[in-house]
Amino acid sequence: MGKRDMSKGAAGYGLADTIAAISTPPGEGGIGIVRLSGPEALAIASRIFVPRRPRDLRQSPGFRMYLGMIVDGAGGRPVDEVLVSVMRAPRSYTGEDVVEINCHGGMVPVRRTLELVLREGARLAGPGEFTRRAFLHGRIDLAQAEAVLDVIRARTRAGLELAVRQIEGKLSRRIQEAEQELIGIMASLEASIDFPLEVDEPEGGELLRRLADLRAQLEELIRGSSQGRILREGIKVAIVGRPNVGKSSLLNGLLGEERAIVTEVPGTTRDLISEAANIRGIPVELVDTAGIRETADLVEQLGVERSRQALAQADVVLLVVDGSQGADGADAQLAAAVGDRPGILVYNKMDLVGGDKPEAGDWLPSGWRQVYTSAKEGWGLEELRAMIAEMVLGGEVSPGTEVLVTRARHQAALEKAVRALEQGEETVQAKLPLDLLAVDLRAAREALGEITGSTVDEEVLDRIFQDFCVGK
Ligand code: GDP
Repeated sequence: MGKRDMSKGAAGYGLADTIAAISTPPGEGGIGIVRLSGPEALAIASRIFVPRRPRDLRQSPGFRMYLGMIVDGAGGRPVDEVLVSVMRAPRSYTGEDVVEINCHGGMVPVRRTLELVLREGARLAGPGEFTRRAFLHGRIDLAQAEAVLDVIRARTRAGLELAVRQIEGKLSRRIQEAEQELIGIMASLEASIDFPLEVDEPEGGELLRRLADLRAQLEELIRGSSQGRILREGIKVAIVGRPNVGKSSLLNGLLGEERAIVTEVPGTTRDLISEAANIRGIPVELVDTAGIRETADLVEQLGVERSRQALAQADVVLLVVDGSQGADGADAQLAAAVGDRPGILVYNKMDLVGGDKPEAGDWLPSGWRQVYTSAKEGWGLEELRAMIAEMVLGGEVSPGTEVLVTRARHQAALEKAVRALEQGEETVQAKLPLDLLAVDLRAAREALGEITGSTVDEEVLDRIFQDFCVGK
């Protein structure tokens, strides 16, 4: 990959600066790291770092660590005893000279060290700017850079595995192969456009076959994207039902032992009681409408704005009824009210039912399924989990063997490329001039380039990296 010429970023993220940030989370910990990257990284560090064994940090080769002191000013007031690691361009995370100062993990030593490197000429890094530089220097492409964030934010093992594959470049390679094929087709066209007398036009049937093959490959990636996005973004499951049917018990049962890991994102407010579960690798937010004050009238309860919202946003609704009593008119009304969502009718408390299993009447919304559980004794829950996963993923998932597109941005770009290829096929079929086909192919290539980042502008980069933390 070549360097990208985006040296003068719109947001002021110029590559000429040496940037610095605290790369570890705030608070107390074993270590806290101040990271520096850029042309002056070693020079700046050498002005505040006194190695235990005298040496010039600026001459250090890459992949070395030094023990010593961070000191403030010529008087040498000690700030912290640290380990400094040096990575040299281009073999570093950013592709530039990088220095990482491993301080003792407290707020004061880490902040003081950051202050000193800023005073010595570094600029505070913007969100994700280290990763952005890795991209700008061609160390990684944009899909890989995005995957860095996905690794950090992964909430389940399946999500982590997908993200790591993307960092490795699995998705990027598929896209690059498609780009190569496009370039090949374009080259065959351009030769005949530029030298109409010497080079024959490519044969229509052959062109169509190549275009259709390429389109099929991209369509396969699009097909996997709904699964990929679910595994990355997760789903919401709302639990509704009359009081006392066992909604809270069921929620706890579904949480199980392996919960999804959630970190509170500042600025989000949670109106509803919700818990993060891990259902077959899918990060699931279980929204417990039992937490909403219950009124006798279920439909009125539905009118409560928050529960309405929970239902409107739910990917799957679990309507819980007491199996020993069966469903009644109120349940049917509730089902009708939420029936536009995929749903599962859960007959709970089945441990109390000796005889025949209850069955829903024809009020059960089409596409809804039924399951029998005992939250108390813990059975039926596996089947319920499987049912939820199946409903949202629509069949088997095998993230272990496939490349899955996990972002809406990538999906949209693939769809754009497919539309351009379709148009290209129509152009060929209608026997229109090949210049027109070249236009379609260029559009397809540009769309694919949005995924790898070869054809994105600063604004898109700003939008992508603003989700990162400062220091990554
Ligand atoms: P919610 O009001 O719908 O959230 O219901 P809860 O989860 O609070 O349960 C209400 C009562 O039913 C509690 O006493 C639970 O112990 C009991 N319960 C929940 N699930 C079951 C079940 O599967 N079998 C039996 N026998 N009791 C249950």
